[in-house]
Amino acid sequence: MFAAFDDTDSTESMCTTFLATELVKALRVYDLIGLPRLVRLNPAVPWKTRGNGALCVRFGVGRGQGQMVGEIDGIPIYSYERMYEEADRTTVLETAERIVQKWSRTTEGASPGLVVSEGKPAQRLYWEAVRGIVEKEDTLRELQKIGADIVGWEGGRGIIGASAAMAWRPHDRTYEIITYRSPDRWGTPRHLEDGSVRDMDLKYTTTFNNYDHRTDRRAISPHTNCPVLFGVRGDDPTELMNAVFSLRSETPARWLMFLSNQGTDDHLISAEPTLPDRSYDFKATVAEAPRTIAGGHVIVPVSISTGRLEAAAYEPTKEFRELVRALRPGDRVRLFGELRAEPRTLNIEKMQVISTVIERQKVSNPRCPECGGSTKSMGSGGGYRCKKCGHRNELEAESVEVPRTIVPGWYEPPVCARRHLGKPLKRMRS
Ligand code: ATP
Repeated sequence: MFAAFDDTDSTESMCTTFLATELVKALRVYDLIGLPRLVRLNPAVPWKTRGNGALCVRFGVGRGQGQMVGEIDGIPIYSYERMYEEADRTTVLETAERIVQKWSRTTEGASPGLVVSEGKPAQRLYWEAVRGIVEKEDTLRELQKIGADIVGWEGGRGIIGASAAMAWRPHDRTYEIITYRSPDRWGTPRHLEDGSVRDMDLKYTTTFNNYDHRTDRRAISPHTNCPVLFGVRGDDPTELMNAVFSLRSETPARWLMFLSNQGTDDHLISAEPTLPDRSYDFKATVAEAPRTIAGGHVIVPVSISTGRLEAAAYEPTKEFRELVRALRPGDRVRLFGELRAEPRTLNIEKMQVISTVIERQKVSNPRCPECGGSTKSMGSGGGYRCKKCGHRNELEAESVEVPRTIVPGWYEPPVCARRHLGKPLKRMRS
């Protein structure tokens, strides 16, 4: 039996993944079938609170060898690949309803949705929600087809995300172990040793987005008052567990491993940008030299087949802006990023420099071909006139090649400025 939910938290507090741990705890008469799923959806959706994440958990009576995938308040949690029997639908529905109702931040703007079903909705619900904007009516029609139970609070917008999470059939996947604090610590400073995060990042190479080695800052713990202590992401579940247990921190009250679409690039549409609030992967030619605007954002105008587009590396992308600033007209690039509506700008999340042009810098006007004297420019397109004999010429100014500071290759922003869904370059090579 699948139970999926979304839109339970506010920007201030809580975390939808914590509800998953509460649900797993409340339904511990059943086993987890597969891992709980943390599914990120379109990061450009204007009404998301933070990371646009939705959750789906499957319950049943497990069959075969169980794997320990978490611990909640001292209770080990096991997951099974196969099951003997489905969990009772009414039990799952009523328990999930009670948990979502109890923990949702409806007074702070949350619009929770809960979906319980034996079968999954069509896969397209996931792809549309991760790459586009979905209408709730469309989701409801699909849910009706599979006979799902649906509960919504305060408009129940979370039904869209919940259904998309349930509809996900991974073609690429990663894992995240999230640890949680005991409630008496919520809102207090988190104790987690940065040095242990740095060491973990270097040692466990299948984990990603943990630590910014340039600024010496960890990226695995949130800055809000939510129950999360930290979350570590990786490609290999066994190594991920070892990585997490190598960290030195306050003792987590719970931890749980999730299967996720984080770090997969599933949100990217392979096409030139058209509609806003979507993310694209496309090739372009740099049209003008980049410029820096107020706030330290770097803007680079690029040409695509439909015309011009302004692409931006925003201030939070830090040193990545230097790379974008190093682009020159004529460079060929492949850009990955979200098209914003207003101003209509592409927020660069990652780029591949395909080829660079030779950059030259003028050092002097040409010498006169008649007498060798120095020349004076006659203005744009007017050529040069010899200061000595008056002869006019159309020669090129003398220039030297300037070494380029950017070479063809792949570039990404630092760990702290990455999208949940963005595939880190580290994963692209694997
Ligand atoms: P957190 O990451 O902290 O869990 P969040 O960023 O996921 O928070 P939500 O509170 O879940 O934010 O709000 C996102 C809302 O947008 C949900 O109601 C979800 O159903 C809806 N939503 C998600 N993706 C889409 C989409 N592609 N089209 C329309 N609505 C969407």
